[in-house]
Amino acid sequence: MADLSPTSSDSPCIGIDVGGTKILGVAANPVDGAVLASTQIATPKSTGPAMAQAMGDVVAELLAEREATAIGVGLPGLVDRSGVLRYGPNVPGILDFEVGPELTARFGLPVAVENDGYNTAVAEHLHGAARHADDAIIATLGTGVGGAFVVGGQLVKGANGFAGEPGHMLVNADQFSCPCGQVGCWESLASGTGLANIARSLIGEGGGRRVLELAGGEAAHVRGEHVSVALAEGDTEAADMLSRFSTWVIRGLGSLISILDPEIVVLGGGLSELADDFLNVVQDGVMAATVGGAYRPMVPVVAARFGAEAGALGAALNAHGLVSPSVE
Ligand SMILES: [Zn+2]
Repeated sequence: MADLSPTSSDSPCIGIDVGGTKILGVAANPVDGAVLASTQIATPKSTGPAMAQAMGDVVAELLAEREATAIGVGLPGLVDRSGVLRYGPNVPGILDFEVGPELTARFGLPVAVENDGYNTAVAEHLHGAARHADDAIIATLGTGVGGAFVVGGQLVKGANGFAGEPGHMLVNADQFSCPCGQVGCWESLASGTGLANIARSLIGEGGGRRVLELAGGEAAHVRGEHVSVALAEGDTEAADMLSRFSTWVIRGLGSLISILDPEIVVLGGGLSELADDFLNVVQDGVMAATVGGAYRPMVPVVAARFGAEAGALGAALNAHGLVSPSVE
């Protein structure tokens, strides 16, 4: 676990978040979480060295405008306590990726490397929707499902640093395969990938005609965005897809609430904005999916504050020592 005690220093830090499609970088004030500058480039479609070079280029652009005291990095996968990405299901081909020493050599600054979901939770816990919560679940519904857990005021890291991968808990072993190699991960139902899986399944049963049309008539090309567009048009079959998707989000969150007994659930990622009333639907259903839901306080399900910048901001905060990963 990591201690989350604020410090009094206000020197800017750089935070870099590596996603499947883009590398986002911010310079941030760690005291109030204010983002002072941001930039992004496309994630290179290659292995480690090109990735490290691209990340360094983002840092260089931010450092050209201001000085900073530390660099934080967020990577999508299992990042161990020494800052090495051991494995990431959504970055195939990148294994045992160690970028910290390279960035330190290039910029002469200390570097903290963490899991992207962990960094998102740092931002939301210190300055966002989970502020003041000693027990919280933070989950992001994007291309996959990321997340991390605050327990007793501390972010859970686990024995190796790998804790907090809610997307890969198994919820339905009869359905969709996951890039991690398992079948039935929560992520295969409750992410953008999951929504597309659900849509294709209904199309296979003869439904989802408008969604199929938006995908050019090819079920294999259906993405979550097509469902989103059909929803905005008022398509009832897309609404059915959303309803099934929401049910899986609720089931996963209910299980997590049963395990962790949080004060609050913070939902981020693009899918959490899929429909105007999505959070209300999740809120209305989640306690019934939690053990003894009628006999315990309602757990608020709220929107993340920092949106797409949460991971990069959390990386900057983490680098600044607001989170000290070495504290057990
Ligand atoms: Zn998985």
